[in-house]
Amino acid sequence: MRNELTAVGDRLRRPEYTGENRCLPCTVVNVCLTLVAAAVATFVFTPLGGLVVLVGGLGAIYFRGYLVPGTPTLTVRYFPPWLLERFGKELELRETLRPVEGVAVRATPEGGRLIDGFASAWDDRIASMRTDGVSDDDVAALLGVDEASSVPGDVAYVVDGGLRQWLSESALLADVAAASVLEERGREPWTSLDADEREATLRDLRKYLGSCPLCGGSLDDQETETVETCCTESERVLMATCEDCNVRLIEDLNER
Ligand SMILES: [Zn+2]
Repeated sequence: MRNELTAVGDRLRRPEYTGENRCLPCTVVNVCLTLVAAAVATFVFTPLGGLVVLVGGLGAIYFRGYLVPGTPTLTVRYFPPWLLERFGKELELRETLRPVEGVAVRATPEGGRLIDGFASAWDDRIASMRTDGVSDDDVAALLGVDEASSVPGDVAYVVDGGLRQWLSESALLADVAAASVLEERGREPWTSLDADEREATLRDLRKYLGSCPLCGGSLDDQETETVETCCTESERVLMATCEDCNVRLIEDLNER
């Protein structure tokens, strides 16, 4: 009997959310939800109904790690950073994104996310620049240099005698729009970064885009990501291509 129970348990168990990977904040949230649901069931049905809900809910949390689908994502998104840190979660942000931390992104256990205000300003800027087109001056401002001149037939610019190239029009549009918003906010240390550093920051910032800057199509993320929890480190996007215009937006083969 015991073996059978273990076998059933193993089948139900979701290793990505339990054991070592169990997320404490998610578990706490879910246990609270279960208690509330059980109380409601007791009141609406019978104490037996309440007990069924309680046992079922706690069982689900024990075996699967959570009750409400999507809690790991929700916790990371809505728990304030200090609370996550309280639960022993290490907040992460790539080195290249530090210069825009607090302005464009904030650190989270899953490697950071866009600040809502910046995200909407970035979207608006992308939309207006898509209409107006990207000028040489925009690119010069992005890089923090005096002059940039476009190379015909390519998404590339001559800057200080060297060539700077973008993956696609789409990638350039995203970067120019982000740089323009950042410039407007005018905060250190972004403003004092050199051209290479700016490029690196913008390239990593682009990974947070939800849709194609050029056509608004959804992005087909070629992820190596296998585990999706807020507790374990997961590998991230290698490539993102727009499903509609088939333009590549992100290509990063140096992901850890
Ligand atoms: Zn597209």
